[in-house]
Amino acid sequence: INMNAGPSPLPDAALLTAAASLLSYPDTPGMGIAEISHRSSAFDQVVANANKDLRQLLDIPDNYHVLWMQGGGLTQFAATVLNLAAWYRTKHQLTADDDVEGWYAVTGSWSKKAAEEGTRMGVTARTVFDGKKHGKDNKFTSIAPVDAWDVPQLEENSRKPAFIYYCDNETVDGVEFGAPDSDSAFPFDKFDPAIPVVADMSSNFLSRPVDVSKYGIIYAGAQKNLGPAGVTLVIVRDDLLVDLDEAVKYGAGRVPSMLSYKNMADTNSMFNTPPTFTIYVCSLVLRSLLESPPLPLSSPDARPLSPLSDFADQKSALVYSELDASEGFYIGTADKEARSRMNVTFRLPTGGEPLEKAFVKEASERGIKGVNGHRSVGGIRTSIYNAVTLDDVKKLVAFMREFRDKNAH
Ligand code: PLP
Repeated sequence: INMNAGPSPLPDAALLTAAASLLSYPDTPGMGIAEISHRSSAFDQVVANANKDLRQLLDIPDNYHVLWMQGGGLTQFAATVLNLAAWYRTKHQLTADDDVEGWYAVTGSWSKKAAEEGTRMGVTARTVFDGKKHGKDNKFTSIAPVDAWDVPQLEENSRKPAFIYYCDNETVDGVEFGAPDSDSAFPFDKFDPAIPVVADMSSNFLSRPVDVSKYGIIYAGAQKNLGPAGVTLVIVRDDLLVDLDEAVKYGAGRVPSMLSYKNMADTNSMFNTPPTFTIYVCSLVLRSLLESPPLPLSSPDARPLSPLSDFADQKSALVYSELDASEGFYIGTADKEARSRMNVTFRLPTGGEPLEKAFVKEASERGIKGVNGHRSVGGIRTSIYNAVTLDDVKKLVAFMREFRDKNAH
């Protein structure tokens, strides 16, 4: 049972097809999928299929581009800023010397790092919410109350920020925004709709329906719910693309060609040689999500990701119920309304670190792998992405119960 936070398990059927295609891809007999040109019609078809399936799964409007980029989520911490600062400066006839703000909701370790990178990339990164300030023990445990968010009031005609940035699911801290329309959803209505919202969905991508039209940019590293590491999916609204040469000529900023969303959009993500095999595996995972969802659609007109959302709710609820019923033996780290459905983080306060170490060791002996917390925060983290089965989670919960019975005094 693989509960690693990423890379993490992928659907077996997709991996079996991928393995067979390494030796000989059906469209290019005798040549494996990793051995064909990225400029070939066979590979074009792989990308076209992947884009089509992704568009269907997320109901992506036509004025958004789907880009396959490299460099992981961390590269997007910089790319989002560079592209949007150049876009904003070009639009408002500012030069690179003019200050531009980016607003960050800092709800965990990854958005904190993103805000730091924003500063390095030359924007003034303003924190509109600091989860630590509102969290238990000065830790990232909270996203609420939304009324506590420190959103600056903008005077009429005053300069707006170039973007608002947040992380939808904080993988390290186990903190996730709620589904759209829930009380803990990202508070879009607190912000001027003209300001593009950027979301890092690396660790909850494809786990529930998303209203893409509310976003300027959504991005996700593949290595959780989408595929193997090595590619990052970016969904970007058409009007936010900036021409690099124009931006340079005008002095509005510099974006490396490889990080330019416009370059990637203009070349159908083939500006250089993309990670072809990784993209191929992603295409198989996308297909499997459409063809064999874990639960049936609740109604014929339900969104295609709603079975995955129900599935994630069901699995994470099992673990959270076990924590809550444990009479303090296990303590969930995140506030209840901010609990992640993908990464369940908790501590064992009665025995502290030695007991947590014993938990990880004994879990591993039982075949439950990767449940140690991130090295920066410690504790326990069980990651239950799409490919983790209900049976896997039941086995985890049975182990947790036994471990408690043995160690609670
Ligand atoms: N953002 C989130 C939410 C993550 O979980 C991670 C990695 O786990 C990253 C960003 C960084 O991604 P990468 O390692 O692909 O650069």
